[in-house]
Amino acid sequence: MVDAAATPSAALAGLPERLAAVRARIERAGGDPERVRLVAVTKGFGADAVRAALAAGLTDIGESYVQELEAKAGELADDDGPLPTWHFIGRLQRNKVRKAAPHVGLWHSVDRLSLGVEIARQAPGAAVFAQVNTTDEDQKGGCPPTLLPALLDGLRDVGLDVRGLMTIGPAGDPEDARPAFRRLRELADAHGLRELSMGMSDDIEVAVDEGATMIRVGGALFGPRPARPGMRH
Ligand SMILES: *Cc1c(COP(=O)(O)O)cnc(C)c1O
Repeated sequence: MVDAAATPSAALAGLPERLAAVRARIERAGGDPERVRLVAVTKGFGADAVRAALAAGLTDIGESYVQELEAKAGELADDDGPLPTWHFIGRLQRNKVRKAAPHVGLWHSVDRLSLGVEIARQAPGAAVFAQVNTTDEDQKGGCPPTLLPALLDGLRDVGLDVRGLMTIGPAGDPEDARPAFRRLRELADAHGLRELSMGMSDDIEVAVDEGATMIRVGGALFGPRPARPGMRH
């Protein structure tokens, strides 16, 4: 027998309280928790975290790695319970799209046309966000704003349902993310896109204040992520 207090499921028992706290943060920032869609990021955690999220009433689940997505989706398929809408939020290689496609309901991280072409091939008409690099940091991923018009045209040309834009704010002081989030909103406005996927645990308030329609929250819901040996992040 393992010590129950040390198991991940014991840590997940705190999810309802943490969810209430996240909703309160959204509300305090002027957002309507009913309208700001909360994507619960379970990367690094097992299928139990997804089950806990579903039990708490969360239906949108974010994953960053195709292998993890496949494993958890496979486990949940064996349950009788409800299934989540899976959001793919991580960097994506073209050759992994085929494995992710049967599960993903919304692709947040489409930052180049070659990736969009493969998504359109494996999941015709899929709902996507174009990921924009709003911070000029090379390691962040995302399409440079100057290339965004061509990317959006290309994604539409291959039949994808372009819903909005996504960005990752800079690490550090949450206020430092404001210019990035504002820039994303301006770009979305300029292109007639309504959805804005921006904001993570540390910068929820700033993202909501700048008009986020979807926030991607991991740590604030599930606690610190277990280390991932040999993987990015
Ligand atoms: C991990 C991750 C998140 C969640 O980050 P937290 O700081 O744990 O809330 C959100 N978006 C992306 C793209 C991520 O990779």
